[in-house]
Amino acid sequence: MRADELFELLASTTWRTILRANRNRISFGEDAITSINLNAIASLPGSVVVEDARADEAHKGCDFEMWTGSDHKGWYRYAVQAKKVSFNGWRYEKLKHVVRGRDQIDVLKDYAATVRAAPIYCFYNFAPHVLTFNCKRDKDATQLGCMVVPVGVVEDAIRMRGCRHFGWLHMQPEAIPWRCLITCPPLHGQHASAYAPFRWPTRESFYHDRLPEALRATADLAPGIEMAERSGRDEQQPYSREDESFYPRWRVVVDTGEAPLWGDGPDDRRELPPRLRLG
Ligand SMILES: [Zn+2]
Repeated sequence: MRADELFELLASTTWRTILRANRNRISFGEDAITSINLNAIASLPGSVVVEDARADEAHKGCDFEMWTGSDHKGWYRYAVQAKKVSFNGWRYEKLKHVVRGRDQIDVLKDYAATVRAAPIYCFYNFAPHVLTFNCKRDKDATQLGCMVVPVGVVEDAIRMRGCRHFGWLHMQPEAIPWRCLITCPPLHGQHASAYAPFRWPTRESFYHDRLPEALRATADLAPGIEMAERSGRDEQQPYSREDESFYPRWRVVVDTGEAPLWGDGPDDRRELPPRLRLG
């Protein structure tokens, strides 16, 4: 399975899981969804997920940071804040979350600016009505189970009345399924117009020629999950310069390079854990 196919599978699984959890009256928060999705991504050959124990609530700059690309094409860096939809009006309840006296969205923006990442939100959704689908590839509402928007869209949602819900956010032209970070990076072929102010940052602002050495070393050594001790204990780790006090809880590298991952035959789905089989 390739990275884009896994992202599609995780988005549609998230969509169905949120619906099922609500029916079963099981609370299922955004942290659980993030952990499950990143655990699956960690199983992709060439991908790396590193959990950082330093990122406690007081030092968390974002939920996870994601690098997509390849050594050949270069890398795009995203600082990601996750939020799950509520069945109460399809709202996002904690968009104006405050951390240590600071608005979480400002912490996200500052962190992203410091490390040259694009600050984005990843919304975990289910909704009964999908009116707009901004991806030009096959239209599939469940792909909005993992929907990303740049931080500017969320700032507008916070500033204006009655906009902190799926209905408004998914209709913004910048709202795309997270697979688009893999398949149509990074701006989804969209451009600003007089009628649709474009709120993605310029691609140069979050493009990097290379991965940081420590992430590269981890990727070369051991694809898969690396636990906190590694980055926590390593005095040589390169993040100290740029991350003075904030850290993402997870660092994720998704190599979107040429090679099909897990081969590309129909039998590959057998290698997925049972949770990922679509029911
Ligand atoms: Zn797309």
